[in-house]
Amino acid sequence: MLLREVAYAKPSSVAEALALLAADDGARALAGGQTLINVMKARAGSPDTLVDLNGLDGLKGIELGADGTLEIGAMTTYTELIDSSEARARPILGEVCAQIADVQVRNRGTIGGNICSSDPTNHLPPLMVAIGAQMTVVGPNGERTVPAEEFFLGVYMTAVGPGELLTKITIPPGRSDGFASIPIGVDGTCIVNAAASANGEIRVALGCVGAVPELVRPASAEPEAVREAVRSAGIDPPGDVHASADYRRHLAEVVAARAVEQASTRARE
Ligand SMILES: Cc1cc2nc3c(=O)[nH]c(=O)nc-3n(C[C@H](O)[C@H](O)[C@H](O)COP(=O)(O)OP(=O)(O)OC[C@H]3O[C@@H](n4cnc5c(N)ncnc54)[C@H](O)[C@@H]3O)c2cc1C
Repeated sequence: MLLREVAYAKPSSVAEALALLAADDGARALAGGQTLINVMKARAGSPDTLVDLNGLDGLKGIELGADGTLEIGAMTTYTELIDSSEARARPILGEVCAQIADVQVRNRGTIGGNICSSDPTNHLPPLMVAIGAQMTVVGPNGERTVPAEEFFLGVYMTAVGPGELLTKITIPPGRSDGFASIPIGVDGTCIVNAAASANGEIRVALGCVGAVPELVRPASAEPEAVREAVRSAGIDPPGDVHASADYRRHLAEVVAARAVEQASTRARE
């Protein structure tokens, strides 16, 4: 048997989804299933009930405000972000989503699922931190907004608590962003990645070097200033079969400088 027996519910409103989550400690939200189903197949997790969010139209879609702010429903897929004319207001979003895995994963995987997984090797957590995204979380006690910098709490842990849902991601206006990574293979999981924003202050978020994205703020866009900011952050990355800790530390400087170069080139255009 591939999966342990599991109950399944497909609510038609956010209120119904919250009630299902509240009724059962073992209930888990199901978005694209590209992480959760694999976790269940590996028996690394075994929810009692899957609360499928795919019937919740209110969690889908991309809205572009008059000032360039984007509001993205948590259930928006990578493919929808790549294809969306609204999302091109912040071009880095589609560019990074296009680097995730393959077409099947991009057709099913969602921005909300990617962020809620808080997998340190995922592409979107560092991007959300670099560009200053805000997460809207709803639960039994109402709605709150959490800045990306405070959202990621640890490996597979976020500010979304038991019985809560991420509903929306708000992205401020800006076009001068960059992203660089060293993937394991073509379009594969990253060994190290970095997202940068040069819309005003320079913000760089490093991925794959710790449990959560590491935000650094270089004094300037000069490559040596960026490298120095990464060195000063004192990161303590893991070593594994793909890269030693020292090599990851070195790569973090390289990808940070590349991401800032891309962001600052766009700022000059
Ligand atoms: C072969 C393969 C390669 C991959 N490579 C990459 C890669 O290179 N880069 C990358 O970034 N990702 C990669 N992924 C992961 C993929 O991007 C997943 O889509 C993503 O991690 C999870 O999104 P999902 O929509 O599938 O969420 P699910 O798997 O359905 O859910 C993931 C977790 O988030 C929770 N959750 C989902 N939505 C919400 C919500 N709205 N509110 C509260 N909790 C929620 C679920 O309960 C679950 O715990 C890969 C996946 C596969 C199968």
